[in-house]
Order: sequence, then structure tokens, then C-alpha cells
Amino acid sequence: MEDFKTIIEPFKIKMVEPIHLSTFEQRKQYLKNANYNTFALDSNKVIIDFLTDSGTSAMSSNQWAGIMQGDESYAGASSWHKMRAAIFDLTGHEFILPTHQGRAGESILYGYLGGMGKIFISNTHFDTTRANIEFSGAEAIDIPCEEGKSPKTYHPFKGNMDVVKLEKLIAEKGAANIAGVILTVTNNSGGGQPVSMENAKAVGVICKKHKINFFLDCCRVAENAYFIKLREKGYENKTYKEIAQEMFSLTDGAVMSAKKDALVNMGGFLSLRNEEMATACKNLLIITEGFETYGGLSGRDMEAIAIGLQEVFEADYLHYRIRSTTFLGERLREMGVPLIWPIGGHAVYIDAKELYSHIPVHEYPGQALVCDLYLTGGIRAVEIGSVMFGKYDEHGKLIPAPMELVRLAIPRRVYTQSHIEYVIEVFEKLLKNKDNSKGVIITEEPKFLRHFTSKFKRIE
Ligand SMILES: *Cc1c(COP(=O)(O)O)cnc(C)c1O
Repeated sequence: MEDFKTIIEPFKIKMVEPIHLSTFEQRKQYLKNANYNTFALDSNKVIIDFLTDSGTSAMSSNQWAGIMQGDESYAGASSWHKMRAAIFDLTGHEFILPTHQGRAGESILYGYLGGMGKIFISNTHFDTTRANIEFSGAEAIDIPCEEGKSPKTYHPFKGNMDVVKLEKLIAEKGAANIAGVILTVTNNSGGGQPVSMENAKAVGVICKKHKINFFLDCCRVAENAYFIKLREKGYENKTYKEIAQEMFSLTDGAVMSAKKDALVNMGGFLSLRNEEMATACKNLLIITEGFETYGGLSGRDMEAIAIGLQEVFEADYLHYRIRSTTFLGERLREMGVPLIWPIGGHAVYIDAKELYSHIPVHEYPGQALVCDLYLTGGIRAVEIGSVMFGKYDEHGKLIPAPMELVRLAIPRRVYTQSHIEYVIEVFEKLLKNKDNSKGVIITEEPKFLRHFTSKFKRIE
């Protein structure tokens, strides 16, 4: 698009979903009823929902038209052939297994390759990836590059894997024990930061040399391609799709959660080059998901995925997508909000420990900020800090997480520029009052994954 300052959505709105514009007084009551845990809020009590970008995309009129054409035949549906063709075109992987979402593909592939004594290595395993690997008895090791560990210094590809460490780990553990190397693009847990083609190539060369499987966790491969075209030399004139195709060409397989860059609300796939591996995985697919031409999906889902995988690579879409996320981050940064820099593809991560420096970590500054964002403007965000990852020592004292972050994850094609302007205004208001903000204490918590169901009290 030409060089205008205003980021316009490259789409018109054909169908609208009303937002209930609650008042401050109402939100006070809603939040209290939810015990200060925004996961316990009903979505109709939220004005701007930045809880996740997963499965929250708006589909296009073309995708909805595709839904009506879904072929619901048990075997050999035309919708399956369309989805298969779209994925083959992108990945070049011969064997494609449809799954109901990303983790189902992970469970099949890593369950098959994993097991006691096996090792997987990644730039950063996403939490479901790690869980599936560890559930099989195998070990998951993260080796993000050094730049990726420093939240505030600029680097164009903070999602990269540390390839020197990769070589070292292979030498130390033995190539035969390494069941796979997984490159997560963009690196979700590392702040949605991109991986360069140079890095992917280097990982590919090392894997080939040692005959180790190289997989892509490709949920956000289109967003990653945008950053490569923008920041990596030699890719200026390639299309986003060509960049993604080149990255897939380096790999032996891929797992995708279609809930991200396939622009649908549910779905996923596993794609493989090796026939033997694919046959074994297909057997597992049939037991756990469904027959190999639908897996965990209905025909209409497969239609929508086939179309979404085309649309996500459109230049105007990707430009709007990344620019509007970056715009939000840049504006907040100018206002003095400390955040992870540079801004990644799908989310803005705020450093709550620094923003709420008057709140000690055992009073959960991230959760306090999540509460304030909701109270001030009905914005739902998620704490990624000591509520999510904190542990207790033997005396019951909190062992805090390394960072107290709050994530604003932006759903695809859902909110407009004026929604983003509103969010910025909510922050302006919040900043004026931030020094009076109080922390929270946990009054009830489950044993695992406590962020979902814990109850809190606000300190008076
Ligand atoms: C979302 C996600 C997954 C898991 O996919 P689901 O569809 O949620 O099961 C795996 N890896 C990454 C990087 C993700 O973002």
C-alpha cells in the first residue's frame, strides 16, 4: 500500500457482532464476581478481548462461502482435496494429516518419535509442544539465541535458535537420541519474535549433516515471512508465500495450528516428507482423530482452511496485520509503557514489573495490571508472569517467574484502527493513576495451571 500514515483495514465489514459497552461501575462488579481473574469473565462483559490470537480470527466472505460448499463425505471429500492442495502447495510435504487443532498433530508426531531417553530441541517449545513431548517421556530443550533473552534491546530476529548450542547439544547427547529439532515461527513464547531464513537454513544444514528430523511449528509462518521480507537481505523482492515455501523446503515436516495463520476458528495439520513416518502417524490419526481424509475436521472446516491459507499471504492483509500490532506497541512505548522490543507479530508484551515497580512480585504486578486494564476500559489481557509460572519453595515462599509480563494478543481481522486508538486512550488514563494501583493476593488456587482458575483479592 502507498505510504499513508493511517492504517486502514484492507476489508469492509459485512456482518457485525455487537460489543456491550459496560460502565466502570459495572466492570467493578463483574471483576469482583470473577474473583479478579479475567479468565472467569464471560466474553460479553469484555469490550476489547486481547486474551489470545488463537481461534479468534474473523473469517472472510470467501471463507464463509466455502463453508457452505463443505463436502461432508466421510472419505475422499472434495474439501479435503482442496485443503490438501493448499497445504502441499505451501509446504511441499507429500503426506498431510488433518487434525482438529495444533496439539493433536503434536501429540501424534511427538508421541510417535518421543519416549524415554529421546530429546527434542527448539528455539522455544510452545507450552502444548513441551507438554506433548514430556508426556511421551522425552525431554524438551530450549535454545533461543542470546539476543532473544534480552527483552529490550533491538534485534531483527530475536526468535532465532542458537546454532552453536545446537551443534554442542548434538555432540553431547548423540544425534541418535535427538528425535527432532523444532523451529517455532514466529517464536510465540519468546514474544512473537521472528526467525530469519539464514537461521532456518543453518539449522537445516546441521540437521541434515547429523540425519536429525527438522520440523517447523508453523502457526505464524506468514507473519514470520513478513518480517523476513522487511528485514532480511535478499528477500525484498520475494512474495510472502515464496518466503514461507522456501522455509518449508528446508524441513522434513511441519505442525500447524490453523487457529493462527490459517485464519479459522478451529483446525490444524501435520505434514511430512517421509513415508514410513507418515504411515505410522496416519495409524495414530485414525485412532485418535479420524479417517485420514478428514482427521479431526468437518468438510466445511477444511474448505475454510484452504481459503484462509491463501488469504493470509496477501500483501495488504499482512501489512495491515503487522503494522497495526506494531502501531499499538510503538504508541505505548512513546507514552513510557515499558515493553518487549521490538514488537512481535501477534502481540504486545508489557513489562508489568517495571510499570508497577511499587508492587512487589509476591503481590503480582502483572495480575494487578490485567485487573486495571479491565476496570479502566474493559480490555481483557493475560498475565504471563508469576501467576502463570510462579512456584513455591518448601517454606511456601513464592519463587517468582523471570519476568512479570502482560500480553495483549491481537485477534486477526477483528478489531479496527479505532479500537486500537481506544486501547491507547485506556492506557493514557491508566498511566495517570498507576501509582495508586494495588497488588493482589491469591485466595484459592488449583495445583496445576493456576492462572486459569485461581481466585484473587485486591489488596486495599
Ligand atoms: C497455538 C500453538 C500451538 C498449539 O496449537 P492449538 O491449536 O492451540 O492446539 C502450538 N505451537 C504454537 C507456537 C502455538 O502458538
